[in-house]
Amino acid sequence: MFCPVCKTAMIDVEYEQIELDYCVKCRGVWFDSNELELMFEKINLQSSNLSITELINKIDQNIPENRYRCPLCKQKMGKVKIGDASQTVIDVCVRGDGLWFDGGEVGQLIKHASSNARQAGAEQQVINFLGDVFRI
Ligand SMILES: [Zn+2]
Repeated sequence: MFCPVCKTAMIDVEYEQIELDYCVKCRGVWFDSNELELMFEKINLQSSNLSITELINKIDQNIPENRYRCPLCKQKMGKVKIGDASQTVIDVCVRGDGLWFDGGEVGQLIKHASSNARQAGAEQQVINFLGDVFRI
């Protein structure tokens, strides 16, 4: 699979049995929707709290950032703000194939994860999890 931003072939990264595709060049990360479900199980989150469908419903057309194409279906992805502070913008496949975090977003995830408390909202727990993944 190729990076939606720089088109480099991505590598598989595994963390706690969850496989992600990572671009070594621009440091973005792709999560396919199955892996997202697995991650919710890992962090004991009811996936109904935050499903890919729900993220698709939250797509914000007014975010003025480049829209990348989904590495699976090649359709343009939508932008969604996630997290308690809504400062992280991710890309979501409109057909539900998965999520893309670009390199800068991963950096933000790490920052937010380290500064947030345990009793966070569902989205924040996802951010915390990803913060752990990318700290290694
Ligand atoms: Zn897609």
